[in-house]
Amino acid sequence: MPELPEVETYRRFIDQTCLHLPISEVEVQDPKRQLQLDLDDFRKALVGNQFTSTQRLGKQLFLETQNGPVVHLHFGMTGDVAFYKDESETPRFARAVFHFQNGFKFAFIDSRKFGRLGLTQSVDVFRKQKKLGPDALTITAAALASGLGKKSAAIKTLLLDQRIAPGIGNWLADEVLFQAKLHPERPANSLLAPELETLANAIRDVLETAVAAEAIYRDFPAHYLIHAREWDTAPAAATPDAHLHCPHCQHLIEKKYVGGRATYFCSHCQK
Ligand SMILES: [Zn+2]
Repeated sequence: MPELPEVETYRRFIDQTCLHLPISEVEVQDPKRQLQLDLDDFRKALVGNQFTSTQRLGKQLFLETQNGPVVHLHFGMTGDVAFYKDESETPRFARAVFHFQNGFKFAFIDSRKFGRLGLTQSVDVFRKQKKLGPDALTITAAALASGLGKKSAAIKTLLLDQRIAPGIGNWLADEVLFQAKLHPERPANSLLAPELETLANAIRDVLETAVAAEAIYRDFPAHYLIHAREWDTAPAAATPDAHLHCPHCQHLIEKKYVGGRATYFCSHCQK
C-alpha cells in the first residue's frame, strides 16, 4: 500500500514531469467509482488549465493549478503514477489519464481501484474538512504532544490516527517506536517530554530515510526493524536472509496485536 514515503516519491516525480504543461484532455475510466465529482465538471476545471505546484499531506497528494481548483489524489491500496508520450506505453491499469498539449500524458495507475481523485478549493480547506493533523514528515514534539493530548490509548494505536500525524501506516508506526525505544502499548499520556521529543525525531528520521531510499525497503539501514518483519505480500523488503532478531540486541522480535494491528517490537529494547 502506498504510504507517505511512496506518495512523497510520486510528488517529486510529478514535480519533475507534469508542471506548467497545458492540459488538453482528461479521461477517467470509472468515474462513478473513483472520481468524487462529475466527470464533466472535472474536465471543465482542467482542460486548458495546468498544474503549477504539488503538495502532500500524509498520504494525500495535491496538484495545484493555475486557475484555482486543486486536484486531490489518494492512492488507495495500489496507486501509482506514470508519465509517457506514446499511447503504446499506457500502463495497463491507468485509471485516469491527463493529456498535455505537448503530447505527453500523466497516468494515475490503480489496479484495485481503491484510489480516489477529486477537486478541492485548497489544501488548507481539505485539511480542515478531514481534520488532518500536521504532516508526519515535519512533525514537531509540540505538535505531537498537542495531538496526543491526555489520551490514554496505546501510543501505537494513536500514531495510526490520521488526525494526529497523517501518513504513518502500520509498519512505520512499529519502526518509529523501535527507533525511539518505546513499547507500542505504552499509554500515550505516560510519555514524558524527552520521550515525546525522541519520538518526534524518530518519526522524522524514519520518514526522511524512507523518502531518501525512494521507499525501496530493502535499501533501508541494517538497524531498522523492517528487516525483521514477516511480510504477507511480497514487497521489496522481503530479503531471502530476513531474520526475526532485533538488530540491536539480537533478542527475538515479538509479534502482538495492538488495537487490532499486527505489531512487531523488541521487549528488551522497548520498555
Ligand atoms: Zn532489542
